[in-house]
This record gives sequence, C-alpha cells and structure tokens, in this order.
Amino acid sequence: MTARIIDGKTIAAELRGRVADAAHRLARDRALVPGLAVVLVGSNPASEVYVGSKTKATVGSGMRSFDHRLPATVGEADLLTLVGRLNRDPVVHGILVQLPLPAHIDSQKILAAIDPAKDVDGFHPVNLGRLAAGLPALAPCTPLGCIILAKTVHPSLEGLDAIIIGRSNIVGKPLALLMLGENATVTVAHSKTENLPEVCARADLVIAAVGRPEFVRKSWIKPGATVIDVGITRLPVPGEPGKSKLVGDVAFAEAAEVAGAITPVPGGVGPMTISCLLANTVRAACMQAGFPIPDFSKPSSDERSRD
Ligand code: NAP
Repeated sequence: MTARIIDGKTIAAELRGRVADAAHRLARDRALVPGLAVVLVGSNPASEVYVGSKTKATVGSGMRSFDHRLPATVGEADLLTLVGRLNRDPVVHGILVQLPLPAHIDSQKILAAIDPAKDVDGFHPVNLGRLAAGLPALAPCTPLGCIILAKTVHPSLEGLDAIIIGRSNIVGKPLALLMLGENATVTVAHSKTENLPEVCARADLVIAAVGRPEFVRKSWIKPGATVIDVGITRLPVPGEPGKSKLVGDVAFAEAAEVAGAITPVPGGVGPMTISCLLANTVRAACMQAGFPIPDFSKPSSDERSRD
C-alpha cells in the first residue's frame, strides 16, 4: 500500500482563503476589522522569520497587524505594561507574544497576563481549562491544524481509535482534549508509556508530537491508518557540509508503505499553524464583538475529496 499524502500546504491555503472571506464579510457587513498584535523580544533569526510570515499573512487576509519589536534587554515590567495596553486596545483582538523570551523574563507570567479573550495562541490556562471543560475556547493553533488535517481523511473522528504520542502543554494535551471533543477514543502516550509500538499499532489515527526524528516506525502502524506528523527537527545532510533538512517524528518513507494517509515534513502540519492563528484572530474578534463565531475546523468539501 502507498499512502495518500495529506497536503498541508494546500489545505492551509484553503483555510486561509476561508478566513480571509470571513474577515472580508466582517469588515463589509459589520465594520469590524480583526487585528492581531505580535510582540517580538530580541532578534532570534527563526522568530524574526516566523513573525514576518505572520504579519504578511495577517495583512494578506484583510486584517490589521500590529508589530511590537522590543530589545532583548527589555524588563519584565515593561513587557507586562505593553501586554496590559494591548489588552485594553479595542482595535487589537488577538495578542501573540513570540516565544522563546529571554531568560530574565518569566514566560508563564507574560502569557498569563494576556486577556484570555485575546489569547489567539490558546496557551492561557483559562483557555486550556475551558477546552478541558468542553466550553467555547481559543484552542492552540498546532493541535487545531492537526484536527483539520485529520478531517480531510475522516470527516467525522467519532469512534476512531486515536493515539497521540507526546503530552506537552502546547501540542499533546490540548490535542487530546480537542480529539475527545470530536468523540474519538484517545490514548496519550509519553516517555513512560510501556509497549508503545504495540499500543500504537492498534490506532486508526496516529499523531506524533515527540521531537525525536523518525521515531515512529513502519511496524508501529496499522495498515490503512492515518498518520499526522507534528515533529520538526533540523538535521545536517550527511556528506553535504553546511546543508540541513527538516525531519519529522515518523520514518516517512517506510510508514507511507503501510499507512492509508500521511502528512509529509515539511509541508504537513507546519503550514497549518499560521492559518489557524488567523482563524483564531477572526474568532476572537467575533467573540469580543458578540457576533456569531465562525467554525473553521471542518475542511471544505473540495479538500475532503482531494486524492
Ligand atoms: P516537548 O514539549 O518536548 O514534548 C515532547 C513529548 O514527547 C513529551 O510529552 C515527552 O514525554 C514525549 N516523549 C519524549 N520521548 C519519548 C519517548 N521515547 N516515547 C514516547 N514519548 C516520548 O515537545 P513539543 O513542544 O510538544 O513538540 C514536539 C515536536 O513537535 C517537536 O519536534 C516540535 O518542533 C514540533 N512542533 C511543531 C509545530 C508546528 O508544526 N507548527 C508546533 C509545535 C511543535 P514526557 O512528557 O514523558 O517527557
């Protein structure tokens, strides 16, 4: 069997189109232009690239973007003051503080200071708690992306036997909560899980968020299962000094021989994250204005029928 490739780039672009349509309708019919504020502290090159892409995507989707670049020496109190100001600013509907922050700043304190209604990264404990309680919440972007990708293969996740490998606060745990909300039967594996290959081989849906390159092997995958690979590790290319490549948590070539569908790395989960951030910004703007909240979690019928 050769797996169908789940094309994250195309699905993310389709989602971005739906978000842009929703933003356009809000501006036209209700005079509401969703706004996203991104705070970048210091000059980490990877963060600079990521923030640049977010700004471009936000403006390209018809929303307002507010960039705040602060020196690496900024004090925690000054950063908290900025977050407080953004919390009160009515044209800012979403606030994202780019991580990692410099060591002298307590990231948890900064994230907890963001108004949960504007927490478009979905990292605030209030949003995680609301997710756990099954209440409307802003959910973290990468897990949301995984759900949308899985739904391109399984329009309903109800009753599916799903395993999530990894239990981090930003991927594994919120993803487990989202999957429970979809009525999947969820196993969450971690570094202390026993007999992981056997447990994994029972699953109809495997989601790997471990951070260990090519950790999940072909023999762990039930024939026909859907595999979503969240992992991203940059590794040197053997024999090509100075060159590197991105590798996922799944041994892609061998897993694709047994899986029914699989995401590549790069080009799978990665592109979904920014699109889900834009979706959360539109949702946050609607929540704050008391307007109906659009549901972007289902891929369009075009996406579902693509082979
Ligand atoms: P993390 O915080 O390091 O968590 C890794 C998880 O994997 C932990 O729960 C850990 O278990 C588990 N684990 C480690 N070794 C294991 C083993 N031998 N067997 C089973 N489980 C094991 O990582 P993360 O932040 O969730 O990220 C995971 C991967 O996803 C990384 O490669 C990251 O770069 C990638 N990522 C991608 C995106 C994106 O595409 N946009 C976004 C976020 C993350 P314990 O809890 O027991 O330690």
